[in-house]
Amino acid sequence: MLAWSGTEDGLVRAFTDRSGGVSQGVYDGLNLGGHVGDDPERVRANRELVEQATGLRLVLADQVHGAEVLHVTDEVLRREPSPTGGVGTADAMVTDLPGLGLGVLVADCTPVLLHDLDVPLVGVAHAGRPGMLAGVVPALVAAMRDLGAGRLEATVGPSVCGRCYEVPAQMRDQAADAAPAAVAVSWTGTPAIDVAAGVVAQLTAAQVPLTWVPGCAREDRRWYSHRRDGVTGRFAGVVGRAPTARAVAASDV
Ligand SMILES: [Zn+2]
Repeated sequence: MLAWSGTEDGLVRAFTDRSGGVSQGVYDGLNLGGHVGDDPERVRANRELVEQATGLRLVLADQVHGAEVLHVTDEVLRREPSPTGGVGTADAMVTDLPGLGLGVLVADCTPVLLHDLDVPLVGVAHAGRPGMLAGVVPALVAAMRDLGAGRLEATVGPSVCGRCYEVPAQMRDQAADAAPAAVAVSWTGTPAIDVAAGVVAQLTAAQVPLTWVPGCAREDRRWYSHRRDGVTGRFAGVVGRAPTARAVAASDV
């Protein structure tokens, strides 16, 4: 269910794996992606399992490999969700509302969680190769600082590693221009890209300290991997702040 999680001072951070879910076939396990061809009822059940495990209402957006940041407010939540349950179209979200678990869906791409130590802001970003090149993580950092964040910290989750992400040389050179740290070599010695290393370099350049949760989605079958399996499910990175103590007590009754 939760491959890695941390809870301290009401902050909840988690990365799911494929264990403990109800999906079957190529989606076997805890598939949280509603856009990959899985049975919508099973996806909904899996999302509810994550909500129970985290104690947060899961909030997802429709991801398009861009750099837009969606500020999740009460008004946004009142809108009709998309057919796959998204509250909007964005690859990054930020909120100061307690009780929400902002989530990104990945199967090789890098999930990034952000929280602030001064104000109750949390943010999440989905950074694949296009998102890393477009700067979705620096855009999220800037948006959170505009909203008052003073001491951001990041948690970078499992993703495909650089050795497993072979690309044409031209694509690697393009990445090198935008993020030199992303240049990698595959297991067979061919050009490759390390998207997570590029994201980590972007966070470091933005002076955001980080925790990097290890793991390669392609090598470790605990996670969904598009590179390994093609049609498959999605796991998630989730961040939020627990509902107020009073609300928790009410929902526990
Ligand atoms: Zn790998």
